[in-house]
Amino acid sequence: MLIKSHRLCSIAIVEAGLIVTNVYLKSPVSDVLLLLATGVGAGLPDIDHYNSTVSRKSPINFSLFLRHRGITHTLLGWLIFTGVLYFLMNLVLPIQLRPFKFDPWNSVWLGLIMGYFLHLLEDSFSTQGVNWLMPFHKANTRGRFFRYKVGGSFEKMLAFIAFVLILAMTAYALGNILVLNI
Ligand SMILES: [Zn+2]
Repeated sequence: MLIKSHRLCSIAIVEAGLIVTNVYLKSPVSDVLLLLATGVGAGLPDIDHYNSTVSRKSPINFSLFLRHRGITHTLLGWLIFTGVLYFLMNLVLPIQLRPFKFDPWNSVWLGLIMGYFLHLLEDSFSTQGVNWLMPFHKANTRGRFFRYKVGGSFEKMLAFIAFVLILAMTAYALGNILVLNI
């Protein structure tokens, strides 16, 4: 998937989670941060791609020593990212993990790691697939029921649907928040 599609699809999935669980009514500021961080996190694994948007913005081009869809596209890569980010963010402000209790700082961390994870999940359904268990296992996971081509028309359609869903869910959430505050 292209970075824009990753961002849109991941944000739509997380926003749907917020709506279904009604969490969004508790802390709108944390929700917005969660969704923005999801969008950023969803772009990060492609830091291993020479010409990706994240690589071009990064001061170091990581693709020079990372193979595309290598370590950044594995469960281990995600766990390392999650742990290192937790450690670094905790140096600035402590992250308190409590289920369904989001404060803004937690939301940034959670959004970044969820966005990253969803990127891998979305890539799993592409024709190239993702090797989740590398270096312990060799085969790539690919979509069994359907596979899409990166940058193809199916992906574009999916990104468009995600975009429409985000608009609809945001309007719904805003409507509910307004009603509650009147
Ligand atoms: Zn990717």
